[in-house]
This record gives sequence, structure tokens and C-alpha cells, in this order.
Amino acid sequence: MNAALRKSAAVTHRLGDEWLMAYAAGALSEGQSLLVASHLSFIDDAPARLAAAEAVGGALIDDLAPDLMAPGALAQTLARLDAAEPPRPAALPAAGDNHLPAAGDDPLPAPLRDWLGRGVDELKWSFLGPGMKKVKLWRGGPGDQRLWMLRARPGVKIPKHGHRGTELVLVLKGSFSDPHGGFRPGDVEESDGARMHALDIDEGEECICLALTEGPIRFESWIARAIQPFIGL
Ligand code: ZN
Repeated sequence: MNAALRKSAAVTHRLGDEWLMAYAAGALSEGQSLLVASHLSFIDDAPARLAAAEAVGGALIDDLAPDLMAPGALAQTLARLDAAEPPRPAALPAAGDNHLPAAGDDPLPAPLRDWLGRGVDELKWSFLGPGMKKVKLWRGGPGDQRLWMLRARPGVKIPKHGHRGTELVLVLKGSFSDPHGGFRPGDVEESDGARMHALDIDEGEECICLALTEGPIRFESWIARAIQPFIGL
């Protein structure tokens, strides 16, 4: 089995179609777009799924009765769809591309590496906690979104925490487990503000993730809360 097939088969936790529709419509923030594009680059049928999501999104807009929408909303939506042509960051995986991270052993997917303009070892990693490093990539959008990467040693346990809004975690290398399942390269875990979770990095390999969080992370333990101002996430 070649690496692309293995990779695609391993992606069991996929982002929902609502994300793909919003992505195709150009309705996501820069950070969200980057995470979605990075996720799609692990999935071989991504162009087909995107086209389907785009078609469904277009049909939904056609079906909306204009008088039920706020004045100007339809026009704005259509304008956004127009403006979104081409709708995606440089990031869209091309059909026929095998979506493998190029550049030697660098685990960054092409959209992310292109955006960063460098490889994973050229980033400015800083201390996050025992066995953990982080690098902040972007902040903006509605809901105070923060795009950052986590790099954790094998076997590290990430303390229990929650989120004010949505958290998306895309695995780029290695794997982790939590009560909601096991997550491997290409998988995305989507958490909302209501659920607390602790992550166990699996043994055997370091784990690198791309995370998008809204607002500051809320840790449960006072120690983690105490150091939070210093880590800035
Ligand atoms: Zn989390």
C-alpha cells in the first residue's frame, strides 16, 4: 500500500460538511481556512467532497426565500460567494495530487507549509509545559480565534481543560487519545465549550498538532491555570 492510501484510510475523524461548505464559500477566517485546507490535504477524495459541499451550499442559497432574510443578506451572501472566486487560499489540494507532505520528513501539509514559508523545525517553538512546546501562528477572526501548533513528546499527558468556544485539533504527526477516541494524522477533533478533556499523547512518536481555539483555554487545575498567563494560549 502506498503512503497516500494509508494516510487517507487513516483519516476517520473528518470535519463535517458544514465546514466544507463554509470553506468553499470563502466564509471562514484565515486561520479556519488554513486548518480546513490542511485537513483536506490528508484526504484523497477532498476535491470531490468539496465540490459536493459547494453544490449543496449553492442549492441551499437558491432555496432560501429572499424575503425571509434580513435586508441585504442574500445580496451579501451572493457577493461573498462571488468574491470567493477563487474561494480558497492557495491551499486547495489539486485533484491528482497525492497530498503527501513533501520536503523530506517534514510533517507539515502543503497548505500550512506554504503559508508558513518554512518547515516544522524552523519555527520558534517555546515552552508550553513538561514535554510540550507550542508556536503561535495567527490570531484574529470572530470569537478571538488563535491558530497554533502543539509539539509533544511521546507519552505526555495534557491536563484537563475546556474551551470558551470551538476547538479544532488536527493531528499532523504522531497520535493522541482522549475519551472521544484515538486521533492520527489527518484526523480532526472538534470540541465545544461545554466539554472538558485531557489528552494522552501516544507512546512511540512525538505528536504535532495544528489547533484552532476560540478565546483562552480554560484549565481545570490551579497549577495549569496559574501558568496560563505565561504560555499565552
Ligand atoms: Zn482541548
